[in-house]
Amino acid sequence: MRVPPGLRAADFAEAIKQFEAAVGKDWVFTSDEDVDLYRDAYSPLWHEAEEPIPSAAVAPDGVEQVQAVLQVANRYKIPLWTISTGRNLGYGGSAPLLSGSVVLDLKRMNRVLEVNDKNHYALVEPGVSYFDLYKYIHERGLKVWIDPPDPGWGSPVGNSLERGGGYTPMRDHYDNHCGMEVVLANGEIVRTGMGALPGAKTWQQYKYGFGPYIDGIFSQSNLGVVTKLGIWLLPEPEAYRTGTVMVSKHDDLLKLVEVFAYLMNSGIVQATTLVTSPLWFSRPNPELDALRFNGEVAGLEDYAKRHNIPYWSVNLPLYGPARVIEAQWEFAKDKFSAAIPGVTFADGPSYRFPLSSEQVANLSDTVPFGIPSLSIFSIMGPKGQGHLGFSPIIPMTGEAVLESQKVFTQVYRDLGSPTGSAASFPVFSFFARAFVNIYLFPVVHDVETNRKTREIYRRLIKESAARGWGEYRTHTTFMNDIAETYSFNNHALLRLHETMKDALDPNGILSPGKNGVWPKTMRKERA
Ligand SMILES: Cc1cc2nc3c(=O)[nH]c(=O)nc-3n(C[C@H](O)[C@H](O)[C@H](O)COP(=O)(O)OP(=O)(O)OC[C@H]3O[C@@H](n4cnc5c(N)ncnc54)[C@H](O)[C@@H]3O)c2cc1C
Repeated sequence: MRVPPGLRAADFAEAIKQFEAAVGKDWVFTSDEDVDLYRDAYSPLWHEAEEPIPSAAVAPDGVEQVQAVLQVANRYKIPLWTISTGRNLGYGGSAPLLSGSVVLDLKRMNRVLEVNDKNHYALVEPGVSYFDLYKYIHERGLKVWIDPPDPGWGSPVGNSLERGGGYTPMRDHYDNHCGMEVVLANGEIVRTGMGALPGAKTWQQYKYGFGPYIDGIFSQSNLGVVTKLGIWLLPEPEAYRTGTVMVSKHDDLLKLVEVFAYLMNSGIVQATTLVTSPLWFSRPNPELDALRFNGEVAGLEDYAKRHNIPYWSVNLPLYGPARVIEAQWEFAKDKFSAAIPGVTFADGPSYRFPLSSEQVANLSDTVPFGIPSLSIFSIMGPKGQGHLGFSPIIPMTGEAVLESQKVFTQVYRDLGSPTGSAASFPVFSFFARAFVNIYLFPVVHDVETNRKTREIYRRLIKESAARGWGEYRTHTTFMNDIAETYSFNNHALLRLHETMKDALDPNGILSPGKNGVWPKTMRKERA
């Protein structure tokens, strides 16, 4: 049995007995076979000594058991690593950042506590997956949609706390949470927002309550264990339609994004989409690869013309009353036409809800319709291969998209990309007002490839930060690197995070190192 850092084996054995007393013997996992299941299948440190491996896992069934586990952890100063459903693949999976931590696995706390289809919200425990919540709603015929991320086996709690994204107008998952119950490191239970008011009638309808708004400190954090979360649901819309906007010249991107930002920020387009280029996404093609790699704009424009494909395109997803979304599409076309000579449009599919089961079966992707799925795994990469997400936030401007593409391609050129192709960074509108560039690096069970990937990744972090772009979320391997870049005023924000950590978790038991925040005893001295 592995032992957490700084602990004697005999003390850990005693602590394990106490965990067993707290949650039941069947729910404490210590065998290599069981603990291996908590390793990160997408670890960029696979087969290397630095791969963080937990020492054990403990799975409480309710808030009182969480409190009891924290009590034992405080007694023995055992680092825990909290997960809800533990599907954070690409960002660390269910594995801790600090090797030897005990995984606090909340999968048994999987109760849907309430779904309200009049005020459109749900209250869930951490172990509830998107599939569970969808099933609950579907079985009861409730007229509300959830907003799943691509893989539906994760949880609204874990995903919202990571500030993940989906595709419908409820796409920003942290933004669409409302009210939390949190167990602090000392075992105290806190309810945020209106939940602090005994008998509150609007815990899931009004976020702020009274006094300082505290919820943010529990996202991407190690300051508490969230045991309940309110999330806002989308009232089932009447209709959906899409339309694609296409332009033929490289520089058209500037106006394309300007109008796109106007439509987004006016609330006309409210869902996640992708500004992209078929020239980036076409299958391996030596002619295109060479043009892209060398940034040959004239050559790329010529290629697009010869093959009758747009240089850039954006697909606009619209949800709402049928008459309204038709008018929104017409309005969008007018705006683009006024700004970009030669812009063309293609009508996409449109639907009225509810969909018949036949319509659902024929959808190429159910996720934008609030139906969770795992189909993303069938289209992403060869089997047995994982990925790492590099995801800087950049301004919603064409200039920033072009500059980021140039900068990242240069990194590839300097260091050699693991896939051997030019950088292709699509930009997503997962969040209001800014783009997130998401690039997925393949992770394989090959030490040399992964070393190279880590080198490139770290260079990308530095090049991004040098231009004022920061990552919105990252794999545990790079949390320190990215926290380092958020350094305004000699790391004032990180120091504030550390002050809170010291006050709320003096023994440093909760997820040490999460997003670069370490307990006092494990902190590096800062110059
Ligand atoms: C192919 C593929 C596609 C993906 N697409 C998307 C996508 O579209 N959108 C997206 O957002 N992500 C995406 N992901 C990433 C990931 O799969 C999801 O974000 C997933 O929902 C996260 O896993 P989870 O919900 O089980 O969270 P968990 O793994 O349970 O939690 C994530 C982290 O949050 C913290 N945490 C969790 N629960 C608690 C708690 N109760 N209290 C305190 N802290 C807690 C912990 O630090 C934990 O490590 C994708 C991954 C893959 C492999």
